[in-house]
Amino acid sequence: MTANAEHTDSTEDVQGAGDGASVDALVDELLADLPPRSTPPETFLGAQFDRGLAWVHFPEGRGGLGLPPPLHQHVMGRLRAAGAPMAFLRNIIGYGMVAPTLVAHGTEDQQRRLLRPLFTGEEVWCQLFSEPGAGSDVASLATRAERDGDEWVVTGQKVWTTVAHLARRGLLLARTDPDVPKHAGITCLLVDMQAPGVEVRPLHQITGEAEFNEVFFTGAVVPDTDRLGAVGEGWRVAVTTLMNERVAIGGNVGERGTGPISDALALWRERWRDDPSPHAMALRDAVVRRWIAHEVARLTNLRAAHNRRAGTPGPEGSVAKLAFAEDNKRTYELCVDLLGAEGMLYPNDYPQVRPTGLSLGAADVRRSFLRARANSIEGGTSEVMRNILGERVLGLPGGPRGDRDAPWREVPRS
Ligand SMILES: Cc1cc2nc3c(=O)[nH]c(=O)nc-3n(C[C@H](O)[C@H](O)[C@H](O)COP(=O)(O)OP(=O)(O)OC[C@H]3O[C@@H](n4cnc5c(N)ncnc54)[C@H](O)[C@@H]3O)c2cc1C
Repeated sequence: MTANAEHTDSTEDVQGAGDGASVDALVDELLADLPPRSTPPETFLGAQFDRGLAWVHFPEGRGGLGLPPPLHQHVMGRLRAAGAPMAFLRNIIGYGMVAPTLVAHGTEDQQRRLLRPLFTGEEVWCQLFSEPGAGSDVASLATRAERDGDEWVVTGQKVWTTVAHLARRGLLLARTDPDVPKHAGITCLLVDMQAPGVEVRPLHQITGEAEFNEVFFTGAVVPDTDRLGAVGEGWRVAVTTLMNERVAIGGNVGERGTGPISDALALWRERWRDDPSPHAMALRDAVVRRWIAHEVARLTNLRAAHNRRAGTPGPEGSVAKLAFAEDNKRTYELCVDLLGAEGMLYPNDYPQVRPTGLSLGAADVRRSFLRARANSIEGGTSEVMRNILGERVLGLPGGPRGDRDAPWREVPRS
């Protein structure tokens, strides 16, 4: 997955959240003690974590202060404006998905050990859920973890693993009991990506970049102390991660007019504003329609962020993810239209590269156009988001689930 940006909002958005003044004082102190532009990023982020300003809605001692979630967005907005390093840019999966999962399901030891280096970016994380035969239906996964004393031995294959080549740790779902129904036989393990028996191979995307990977496990050993949640409770852990993933991808609350729509507006202004032709008028209408769609999604996300309590987000995360994916694809299609014939050319000779960091905020809209195709797949496809919307928000009947109660071992798989 690739999230688009951290949530931000303005001071009026946190009205009524309480404790805003004392958080503001803590932010002022942090910025005064460690001027962000002259402090090494890891030092700044470490201090931010230690002072409870990493995720202010997390518990004290875990990078937070136990405050309402809207204050987190407020703090991030202030720090960003001051030029502070943004933790999510250094560890996108760790920050948006693994951290809330660790807080919800981790032991005290795991939280103390893992949250700080995750936040500072010293330990990048990846998400090891999808497999060649288990994507939308991730609960059917086949990677095995077998108990051997105080350890687990992992064998199998994961796929589409974003930033696995940069990751120090991975959040792994593995089958620990094949004789019970699929959701019941899964356990979540925290994997050392540099351990023997873990092999990462690049996969190139339509953009030419190998941002994601295949990961092979051949007898990799994970100590039981790195099990997250109870044995057989991996599905419950995974739901926390997946719901947070959808919010991380689609729940962005930027300033009005920012994000992909700003690319479309910039192109229209630069190339079409002074053109009186009917074609330019039609493009203007298309830009306005896109602008309205982005603003509706932004305001809906703002409302959802205010209503959300700390913990696992509800179906609003899936709705936001669906809207984000479809809006983004249409907006970058429009950007290519705004470019005219130039839209058919790819920048920089279509290089086949392996990113050494996260490719956020691509400068060229033609690259963004291609990357946006993945938005309706990563973090759950748009069809699956519509199923969730239909079942959990509209109360429509679910699709057939014939394999739900059968032992996993007896269910045919491709
Ligand atoms: C850029 C990118 C990054 C990714 N990063 C990660 C990562 O870091 N870690 C990770 O674990 N995974 C990652 N994924 C994998 C992603 O989660 C899966 O690709 C996704 O869940 C879909 O699974 P699938 O590819 O197996 O497709 P399938 O599940 O095989 O789906 C194929 C088609 O069938 C449709 N379909 C399937 N089930 C239903 C249904 N019940 N109702 C209606 N339609 C259905 C789908 O919508 C789709 O169109 C990434 C994917 C992408 C594109």
